[in-house]
Amino acid sequence: MPFLIAFVLIGAIALAFLRTPRGRGWLGELRVKLVIGKTKPDVRYVINDLRIRVNEEKTVQIDHVLINPNGIFVIETKNYSGIIYGTESQHEWTQVLKYGRVKNKLYNPIKQNKSHVYHITNLIGGSFPVISAVVFVQGNTKCIRASNVYNLRGLKRLIGKKEYHLSLDQMKSVYTRLTEVNDSSIKNSEHIKNIRKLKSRTAKNICPRCGKKLVLRKGKNGSFMGCEGFPACRFTKNV
Ligand SMILES: [Zn+2]
Repeated sequence: MPFLIAFVLIGAIALAFLRTPRGRGWLGELRVKLVIGKTKPDVRYVINDLRIRVNEEKTVQIDHVLINPNGIFVIETKNYSGIIYGTESQHEWTQVLKYGRVKNKLYNPIKQNKSHVYHITNLIGGSFPVISAVVFVQGNTKCIRASNVYNLRGLKRLIGKKEYHLSLDQMKSVYTRLTEVNDSSIKNSEHIKNIRKLKSRTAKNICPRCGKKLVLRKGKNGSFMGCEGFPACRFTKNV
Protein backbone atom coordinates (compact mmCIF):
# COMPACT_ATOMS: atom_id res chain seq x y z
CA MET A 1 0.00 0.00 0.00
CA PRO A 2 2.71 2.59 0.86
CA PHE A 3 4.29 1.64 -2.44
CA LEU A 4 1.08 2.53 -4.28
CA ILE A 5 0.83 5.89 -2.49
CA ALA A 6 4.43 6.70 -3.38
CA PHE A 7 3.77 5.70 -6.96
CA VAL A 8 0.72 7.96 -7.25
CA LEU A 9 2.57 10.84 -5.57
CA ILE A 10 5.57 10.60 -7.89
CA GLY A 11 3.20 10.42 -10.86
CA ALA A 12 1.38 13.55 -9.71
CA ILE A 13 4.64 15.46 -9.19
CA ALA A 14 5.90 14.41 -12.63
CA LEU A 15 2.65 15.53 -14.27
CA ALA A 16 2.79 18.88 -12.49
CA PHE A 17 6.40 19.37 -13.62
CA LEU A 18 5.49 18.65 -17.25
CA ARG A 19 2.95 21.47 -17.13
CA THR A 20 5.50 24.11 -16.11
CA PRO A 21 7.39 26.02 -18.86
CA ARG A 22 10.60 24.24 -17.85
CA GLY A 23 8.87 20.85 -17.95
CA ARG A 24 7.37 21.55 -21.36
CA GLY A 25 10.78 22.62 -22.65
CA TRP A 26 12.37 19.45 -21.30
CA LEU A 27 9.71 17.21 -22.87
CA GLY A 28 9.99 19.04 -26.20
CA GLU A 29 13.75 18.61 -26.26
CA LEU A 30 13.37 14.95 -25.36
CA ARG A 31 11.05 14.39 -28.33
CA VAL A 32 13.57 16.03 -30.68
CA LYS A 33 16.37 13.93 -29.16
CA LEU A 34 14.40 10.80 -30.05
CA VAL A 35 14.29 11.91 -33.70
CA ILE A 36 17.93 12.99 -34.08
CA GLY A 37 19.39 10.16 -31.97
CA LYS A 38 22.54 10.07 -29.89
CA THR A 39 26.13 10.40 -31.03
CA LYS A 40 27.17 7.26 -32.86
CA PRO A 41 30.85 7.65 -33.80
CA ASP A 42 31.49 7.59 -37.54
CA VAL A 43 27.74 7.84 -38.23
CA ARG A 44 26.49 11.04 -36.57
CA TYR A 45 27.44 13.45 -33.80
CA VAL A 46 24.96 15.19 -31.50
CA ILE A 47 25.47 18.01 -29.03
CA ASN A 48 22.48 18.91 -26.86
CA ASP A 49 22.26 22.23 -25.02
CA LEU A 50 25.37 23.76 -26.55
CA ARG A 51 26.48 26.87 -24.64
CA ILE A 52 29.02 29.25 -26.11
CA ARG A 53 30.63 32.36 -24.68
CA VAL A 54 31.20 34.75 -27.58
CA ASN A 55 32.54 37.55 -25.38
CA GLU A 56 32.05 38.93 -21.87
CA GLU A 57 28.52 40.07 -22.56
CA LYS A 58 27.37 37.63 -25.19
CA THR A 59 26.40 34.01 -24.59
CA VAL A 60 24.60 31.67 -26.98
CA GLN A 61 22.44 28.68 -26.03
CA ILE A 62 21.53 26.19 -28.76
CA ASP A 63 19.08 23.34 -28.09
CA HIS A 64 20.64 20.77 -30.44
CA VAL A 65 23.36 20.49 -33.06
CA LEU A 66 23.33 17.39 -35.26
CA ILE A 67 26.27 16.63 -37.52
CA ASN A 68 25.63 13.88 -40.06
CA PRO A 69 26.84 13.30 -43.64
CA ASN A 70 23.96 15.49 -44.90
CA GLY A 71 25.01 18.64 -43.06
CA ILE A 72 25.27 20.49 -39.76
CA PHE A 73 21.78 21.03 -38.35
CA VAL A 74 21.21 23.79 -35.83
CA ILE A 75 17.93 23.01 -34.12
CA GLU A 76 15.73 25.25 -31.99
CA THR A 77 12.92 23.38 -30.23
CA LYS A 78 9.57 24.92 -29.35
CA ASN A 79 6.98 23.04 -27.32
CA TYR A 80 4.02 25.40 -27.58
CA SER A 81 0.37 24.40 -27.61
CA GLY A 82 -2.45 26.24 -29.37
CA ILE A 83 -2.17 27.87 -32.77
CA ILE A 84 0.98 29.73 -33.74
CA TYR A 85 0.83 32.60 -36.23
CA GLY A 86 3.97 34.07 -37.75
CA THR A 87 5.84 35.05 -40.89
CA GLU A 88 9.49 35.11 -41.82
CA SER A 89 9.99 38.85 -41.26
CA GLN A 90 7.72 39.55 -38.26
CA HIS A 91 9.62 40.49 -35.14
CA GLU A 92 7.21 38.61 -32.90
CA TRP A 93 4.94 35.65 -33.45
CA THR A 94 1.61 35.02 -31.73
CA GLN A 95 0.39 31.99 -29.80
CA VAL A 96 -3.40 31.77 -29.62
CA LEU A 97 -5.00 29.68 -26.87
CA LYS A 98 -8.51 28.92 -25.66
CA TYR A 99 -10.34 29.83 -28.88
CA GLY A 100 -8.69 33.23 -29.17
CA ARG A 101 -9.25 34.31 -25.58
CA VAL A 102 -5.54 34.16 -24.72
CA LYS A 103 -2.78 35.54 -26.94
CA ASN A 104 0.92 35.39 -26.13
CA LYS A 105 3.87 36.83 -28.00
CA LEU A 106 7.12 35.03 -28.72
CA TYR A 107 10.28 36.36 -30.35
CA ASN A 108 10.42 35.14 -33.97
CA PRO A 109 12.30 31.82 -33.55
CA ILE A 110 13.64 32.00 -37.12
CA LYS A 111 15.50 35.18 -36.23
CA GLN A 112 16.62 33.60 -32.95
CA ASN A 113 18.03 30.58 -34.78
CA LYS A 114 19.63 32.72 -37.52
CA SER A 115 21.78 34.19 -34.80
CA HIS A 116 22.73 30.66 -33.67
CA VAL A 117 23.67 29.71 -37.25
CA TYR A 118 25.76 32.88 -37.53
CA HIS A 119 27.82 32.01 -34.44
CA ILE A 120 28.25 28.35 -35.42
CA THR A 121 29.42 29.40 -38.90
CA ASN A 122 31.89 31.84 -37.33
CA LEU A 123 33.32 29.06 -35.19
CA ILE A 124 33.72 26.38 -37.84
CA GLY A 125 34.39 28.49 -40.94
CA GLY A 126 32.11 29.28 -43.83
CA SER A 127 32.75 26.24 -46.03
CA PHE A 128 30.30 23.91 -44.28
CA PRO A 129 26.57 23.58 -44.94
CA VAL A 130 24.92 24.87 -41.75
CA ILE A 131 21.17 24.29 -41.83
CA SER A 132 18.67 26.06 -39.59
CA ALA A 133 15.65 24.15 -38.28
CA VAL A 134 12.98 25.46 -35.92
CA VAL A 135 10.91 22.54 -34.67
CA PHE A 136 7.41 22.81 -33.19
CA VAL A 137 7.11 19.45 -31.47
CA GLN A 138 3.33 19.68 -31.19
CA GLY A 139 3.11 20.00 -34.97
CA ASN A 140 1.12 23.27 -34.89
CA THR A 141 2.89 24.83 -37.87
CA LYS A 142 -0.14 25.26 -40.16
CA CYS A 143 -0.47 29.02 -39.70
CA ILE A 144 3.24 29.78 -39.90
CA ARG A 145 4.34 31.31 -43.20
CA ALA A 146 8.09 30.84 -43.07
CA SER A 147 10.76 28.48 -44.30
CA ASN A 148 12.90 26.28 -42.03
CA VAL A 149 9.98 25.52 -39.69
CA TYR A 150 9.18 21.85 -39.13
CA ASN A 151 7.12 19.38 -37.17
CA LEU A 152 8.87 16.23 -35.92
CA ARG A 153 8.14 14.32 -39.09
CA GLY A 154 9.46 17.20 -41.21
CA LEU A 155 12.64 17.27 -39.11
CA LYS A 156 13.16 13.57 -39.72
CA ARG A 157 12.83 14.13 -43.47
CA LEU A 158 15.16 17.17 -43.39
CA ILE A 159 18.05 15.44 -41.64
CA GLY A 160 17.83 12.53 -44.08
CA LYS A 161 17.92 14.70 -47.19
CA LYS A 162 21.10 14.06 -49.17
CA GLU A 163 21.75 17.55 -50.48
CA TYR A 164 25.33 17.91 -49.29
CA HIS A 165 27.94 15.41 -48.37
CA LEU A 166 30.24 15.78 -45.38
CA SER A 167 33.18 13.42 -45.12
CA LEU A 168 33.88 11.60 -41.88
CA ASP A 169 36.90 13.83 -41.24
CA GLN A 170 34.83 16.97 -41.73
CA MET A 171 32.15 15.67 -39.37
CA LYS A 172 34.74 14.84 -36.73
CA SER A 173 36.52 18.18 -37.00
CA VAL A 174 33.28 20.16 -36.64
CA TYR A 175 32.25 18.03 -33.66
CA THR A 176 35.64 18.47 -31.98
CA ARG A 177 35.58 22.24 -32.50
CA LEU A 178 32.08 22.59 -31.05
CA THR A 179 32.81 20.35 -28.06
CA GLU A 180 35.90 22.46 -27.35
CA VAL A 181 33.88 25.67 -27.09
CA ASN A 182 30.92 24.11 -25.27
CA ASP A 183 30.91 25.83 -21.88
CA SER A 184 28.40 24.20 -19.56
CA SER A 185 29.41 26.56 -16.75
CA ILE A 186 27.24 29.28 -18.38
CA LYS A 187 24.16 29.41 -16.19
CA ASN A 188 20.61 30.04 -17.44
CA SER A 189 20.39 33.14 -15.25
CA GLU A 190 23.54 34.64 -16.82
CA HIS A 191 22.29 33.87 -20.32
CA ILE A 192 18.93 35.55 -19.65
CA LYS A 193 20.70 38.59 -18.17
CA ASN A 194 22.86 38.85 -21.32
CA ILE A 195 19.80 38.66 -23.57
CA ARG A 196 18.27 41.60 -21.68
CA LYS A 197 21.48 43.61 -22.06
CA LEU A 198 21.56 42.92 -25.80
CA LYS A 199 17.94 44.02 -26.15
CA SER A 200 18.75 47.42 -24.70
CA ARG A 201 21.81 47.65 -26.98
CA THR A 202 19.64 46.87 -30.01
CA ALA A 203 17.37 49.72 -28.96
CA LYS A 204 20.47 51.98 -29.14
CA ASN A 205 21.19 50.71 -32.68
CA ILE A 206 24.11 48.47 -31.83
CA CYS A 207 23.98 45.06 -33.53
CA PRO A 208 23.28 42.37 -30.89
CA ARG A 209 24.91 39.74 -33.08
CA CYS A 210 28.31 41.24 -33.92
CA GLY A 211 28.54 44.57 -32.06
CA LYS A 212 28.78 46.82 -35.12
CA LYS A 213 26.49 49.79 -35.77
CA LEU A 214 22.98 49.45 -37.21
CA VAL A 215 22.37 51.81 -40.11
CA LEU A 216 19.28 52.84 -42.05
CA ARG A 217 18.85 50.90 -45.27
CA LYS A 218 16.25 50.72 -48.00
CA GLY A 219 14.88 47.40 -49.21
CA LYS A 220 12.09 46.32 -51.50
CA ASN A 221 9.67 46.30 -48.57
CA GLY A 222 10.66 49.76 -47.29
CA SER A 223 13.27 51.07 -44.87
CA PHE A 224 14.85 49.03 -42.11
CA MET A 225 17.88 49.12 -39.82
CA GLY A 226 20.60 46.76 -41.01
CA CYS A 227 24.01 45.83 -39.64
CA GLU A 228 27.04 47.72 -40.91
CA GLY A 229 28.78 44.34 -41.06
CA PHE A 230 26.56 43.11 -43.94
CA PRO A 231 26.98 40.67 -45.71
CA ALA A 232 28.97 38.82 -43.00
CA CYS A 233 26.26 39.76 -40.50
CA ARG A 234 22.67 39.92 -41.72
CA PHE A 235 20.98 41.21 -38.59
CA THR A 236 18.04 43.54 -39.26
CA LYS A 237 15.40 45.27 -37.21
CA ASN A 238 12.30 47.22 -38.13
CA VAL A 239 12.45 51.01 -38.10
ZN1 LIG B 1 25.92 42.64 -37.00
